[in-house]
This record gives sequence, C-alpha cells and structure tokens, in this order.
Amino acid sequence: MASLYLLAVSTDSYYLAYRDDLTSLPTRRALNQLALSLGRKYTVAMLDIDHFKKFNDTYGHDIGDQVLKLVAAKMSGVKGGGKIYRYGGEEFTVAFPRKTAEQSIPELETLRQNIATYDMVIRNPKRTDKKSRKGKQPSDNKTVNVTVSIGVAQRTAKQSFDEALKNADLALYRAKKKGRNNVSE
Ligand code: GH3
Ligand code: MG
Ligand code: MG
Repeated sequence: MASLYLLAVSTDSYYLAYRDDLTSLPTRRALNQLALSLGRKYTVAMLDIDHFKKFNDTYGHDIGDQVLKLVAAKMSGVKGGGKIYRYGGEEFTVAFPRKTAEQSIPELETLRQNIATYDMVIRNPKRTDKKSRKGKQPSDNKTVNVTVSIGVAQRTAKQSFDEALKNADLALYRAKKKGRNNVSE
C-alpha cells in the first residue's frame, strides 16, 4: 500500500516537472532529457509567438492562454519526426533528431503557415452557464489569428546541445528582425 502511494506521488511529480499544465506539452526539463539521447546530427528550432504581449493586452490573459493551447495543438502536427516542447512562456522548441536544417526547414515552414492561416475559435467565458448555452448564438465565439517566428540551427561539429539551442535563438532574433512570421536560419 505504501509503495502504491509512493508510486502515485512520484508519478505526479514526474508529470509536474516534465509536462506543462496549460498545453500538456513536454517541458524544458524534458527537452534537456532528450538532449542526452541526441546523436551528432540533429536540428533544433525555437518558435516564438509574434507580438504576444500586445495580444494579451488586447484580448486578455485568458484568451492568451487559449491561444497558447491552440498553437501547441497545431505544433503537434509537425512532420519530419519533430519533437515539440514548451520551452517557457510563449516560446516553444522543436527538435529534429538525425535531421539537417535543410530537411527540417520545409516542415517548419508548413507549421508556420498552418499557424498563420488558422482561425482560432475562442470560447466566450461568459457563456458557461446552461441557460446561455441553450441560446446557441454562434456569434458569441470569435476567431483570432496569430503568427510565429521560427529560428533554426543544425548542430555543428563538437557543439553542445546548449550551443545549438543558442544558435537557434540567434536565428529567431533574425526572424524577428526580418519582420516576423518567417523561418530563419
Ligand atoms: P515579439 O514579437 O518580439 O516576440 O513580441 P512579444 O510581445 O511576443 O514578446 P515579449 O517577450 O515582449 O512578450 C511575451 C509575452 O508573452 C508577455 C507575456 O505576457 C506573454 N506570456 C508569456 N507566457 C504566457 C502565458 O502563459 N499566458 C499568457 N496569456 N501570456 C503569456
Ligand atoms: Mg518571447
Ligand atoms: Mg513573442
């Protein structure tokens, strides 16, 4: 019985540390775990939502949270063996084990487009009571759009995972400078 209890507790803390509550994506800690198993060849990408502070200011933090969930859901569809993580805040990481940047970029470009063209349906928080739900006024749900910028780096010889990730972050900075809503190397 005691061991069952301990199992339950340790499983809980495992999920707390390795799964993000809001998006259910693996966390940065899980990414660091993956880093240990990556070989010499891989590509990493940092993805950051564009002007998200302004988005929160305009629509509110709760709708911002819904957007983070929807972006995470879109990211789950990334092809090419990309593994996705919530790095923190409105930043996400995609790791492509055994892939070159050249092989990964088309998948990231598709992901960027999928997010940019995605009309995200936002649930109206005021309409949670039964009475208004019966009312069925579809206009109560609105749609919003966001774009993301993505920085990509292929791991080069002798580079550590942190160094490769740092290069992806520098590439992300270039993507922002270019005007956002693009994938940069
Ligand atoms: P840029 O295009 O340069 O990335 O601009 P930005 O506004 O997205 O960048 P900045 O780093 O200034 O702001 C990030 C914002 O992301 C600020 C913060 O309120 C928001 N954010 C971070 N984590 C969360 C979260 O969990 N929920 C919500 N709703 N907002 C978050
Ligand atoms: Mg950011
Ligand atoms: Mg941002």
